[in-house]
Amino acid sequence: MLTSIKDKVVIVTGGSKGIGKGIATVFAKQGAKVMIAARGMADAELAVAEIIAAGGTAACCSCDVADWQSVQQLIATTESTFGPVDILCANAGIFPQVKLIDMNPEDWDGVMATNLKSTFLCVKACIPSFEKNGKGRVIVTSSITGPVTGYPGWAHYGASKAGQLGFLKTAAMELSRYNTTINAVMPGNIMTEGLQDLGQEYLDGMAASIPLKRLGAVEDIGNAALFFASDEAGYITGQQIVVDGGQILPESLESIADI
Ligand code: NAP
Repeated sequence: MLTSIKDKVVIVTGGSKGIGKGIATVFAKQGAKVMIAARGMADAELAVAEIIAAGGTAACCSCDVADWQSVQQLIATTESTFGPVDILCANAGIFPQVKLIDMNPEDWDGVMATNLKSTFLCVKACIPSFEKNGKGRVIVTSSITGPVTGYPGWAHYGASKAGQLGFLKTAAMELSRYNTTINAVMPGNIMTEGLQDLGQEYLDGMAASIPLKRLGAVEDIGNAALFFASDEAGYITGQQIVVDGGQILPESLESIADI
């Protein structure tokens, strides 16, 4: 049993859907006060209503994580609603597929802004909160794609996800001044709205390549994030954990055909 995070103030970017919603739900179940940030408010309000119906505490705030002013507004709204931020889950991200031959500079910039620049913006904006509290926690949602694997159409996405890990090494050193840790979860293929958009063939192919023979659930990532947020993980910083059902292990599909 990990130390309670009851009453901790947690921001989950991209908390209206998919992995972010899973993280928000896991943290709310443990008694945290959860601020869900996303651009679309309909899904965010739905996620908040579900958490409250289950006895949790949550609110939502419209935010584009790629925009500095919008991120600053998110922190201000969180502080006035719940108090200074204890835990930031920098999770929002996009994964449009486009091969290099068709990729425009705008495609590249858009993915970098939403996935990588946003990580910097959200962490920077939370530093005054961490300083006020005398401690803090950051959990970044990276990916296996980029840091470990490749996939056609995701050169920009993979670079942004590997970039997050590069960012957190130095951020971990600088945040230690505020008694704050920063770590990353690297999901494999997790069943989310975003992943579903890639089609059944993609989902079936992925499930077949995973030793545990199933796609991950959003709670699998929420639980890993919860560990990094706990007091017990207080001496871990600048690190990452792969949560993928063993997907990166096989050297070929044949090697897991009869296990
Ligand atoms: P998803 O189902 O598409 O949900 C994405 C969430 O991010 C939504 O809440 C979305 O809300 C929000 N979002 C997107 N752009 C945003 C922006 N500019 N500002 C604020 N919020 C924004 O995606 P997911 O599959 O849960 O993925 C979440 C994270 O996990 C991403 O960082 C992704 O790279 C990572 N990941 C996912 C998988 C997987 O298998 N699903 C695997 C590895 C890593 P709005 O669109 O309303 O803003």
